[in-house]
Amino acid sequence: MDTVTPPLLLLDVDGPLNPWMAKPSRRPEGYTTHRMRPTGWEQPYQKPLRVWLNHGHGAVLLSLPFSLVWATTWTHEANEWIGPHLGLPKLPVITWPDERPQSSPYWKAPPAVHWKTATIVKYADGRPFAWVDDEITDLDREFVARYHGGAALLHQVDPRVGLLPDDFAALSAWAAELSGGRRD
Ligand SMILES: [Mg+2]
Repeated sequence: MDTVTPPLLLLDVDGPLNPWMAKPSRRPEGYTTHRMRPTGWEQPYQKPLRVWLNHGHGAVLLSLPFSLVWATTWTHEANEWIGPHLGLPKLPVITWPDERPQSSPYWKAPPAVHWKTATIVKYADGRPFAWVDDEITDLDREFVARYHGGAALLHQVDPRVGLLPDDFAALSAWAAELSGGRRD
């Protein structure tokens, strides 16, 4: 049987799908504003979390030759709060260890491998994957190159603008090259 297993597409929410770093006063073009109360945002005195989503992104993501997986701090709540607005079916979810080393390129801390990276490598278990996240750095690329046995694309997305056509094109091109079995 000649079944081709598509690579995984590991999806972050805040940054790629919700351009949280865009100017608060100006909703990015093509996006709809949602007010959400996921876990941690349930208190009545707390303002609901503002999330910008582009409802066209679901169809584009589903058209890519990947198996989609949530790789976000929203974990299972991405299937409840995010996916339905994008027209995405319920997706598998990566869950994270409780102890998260605190690292983010936005914080004034020494550069470090992202707290998601080791878990992502473990989850992929050698299967090719593309990881889309706003917090990816070269340290993560080095970690994946060293510890992941298969092909990988670590694709950083600007959280001021979210996923753009160029990002989708880069993912498609990478998957096409992978399935073409390019020989160097
Ligand atoms: Mg993010």
